Amino acid sequence: MGIIIDGKTLAKEKREELKKKVQELKDKEEIVPGLAIIRVGNDPASEIYVRNKLKACQEVGIHAVEQHFDENASEQEIIERIEFFNQEKSIDGILVQSPLPKNLNEKKIVSFILGSKDVDGFGINNLGHLLANQEQVLAATPLGILHLLEKYEIPIASKNVLVIGRSQIVGRPLAIMFLNRDATVTIAHSKTKNLKELTLQADILVSAVGRPHFITADMVKEGAVCIDVGINRENGHVIGDTDFDTIKEKASFITPVPGGVGPMTVATLLENVYELASTRKKEK
Ligand code: NDP
Repeated sequence: MGIIIDGKTLAKEKREELKKKVQELKDKEEIVPGLAIIRVGNDPASEIYVRNKLKACQEVGIHAVEQHFDENASEQEIIERIEFFNQEKSIDGILVQSPLPKNLNEKKIVSFILGSKDVDGFGINNLGHLLANQEQVLAATPLGILHLLEKYEIPIASKNVLVIGRSQIVGRPLAIMFLNRDATVTIAHSKTKNLKELTLQADILVSAVGRPHFITADMVKEGAVCIDVGINRENGHVIGDTDFDTIKEKASFITPVPGGVGPMTVATLLENVYELASTRKKEK
């Protein structure tokens, strides 16, 4: 049986480490890291994610504010608020909780976040640096996955990595991060043919699709590392994309859902806020 990657515990350790570092920054530089979260509309999952982020910020001593707009808010109103936070000295990171209501242009709105405050790493500036292998702020979910692999001493260089999903927040940046760490990377998406042929070659298999039972045990190579990013709801339970119970018998390492990638994402976001606040110190 494979080793179950305990994201929940690792995330807790990371938050404890961060709490100390945040306290040090306060004591030595009188800087309190600040995060602004913009949420639009009433998507129930977003509400939970934002609540978790605010709670985690409070736990480690990061000052966090939520700006909530109702679903009829205009792009202009939201952009004006972003511009306010861009100027606000107590705010080091700004994020717009995805998804936005369909009538709003998410990419346009996010583009107004200053590159130096783009704590999610979704902006063109940070993505360009990632592509050029000059990484700056990295998106929290992919970076959290790298932290998990590092903690379990799972090597990346020269491995065959398959990333399923090419969204701007998970699949795409993650694939480039693996490439920057010398993996041989394949990206699969909804137009990919013969997916099983690809999954069976993967030493590290990442599923970021959002479909329950998408990866079954017959698709996984013996001894592979299986990273499940998916969050799906089935019969009142949260499950990932992979058939955990059968795949754990075959994989060398596997992330559970919940308790794998999810908690690490939040801890990594907080770390990004802290890192940006530390830059504030150098600029003084
Ligand atoms: P998107 O819906 O933006 O992307 C899904 C990707 O899956 C797309 O690239 C799509 O391809 C691909 N896909 C869909 N069907 C198939 C198929 N049959 N074969 C291969 N690829 C397919 O989702 P996100 O990237 O935002 O999120 C993915 C999942 O991860 C969701 O369940 C989400 O809830 C979860 N998530 C979890 C986080 C965490 O912290 N644990 C953080 C962020 C997301 P195409 O591009 O061609 O449409």
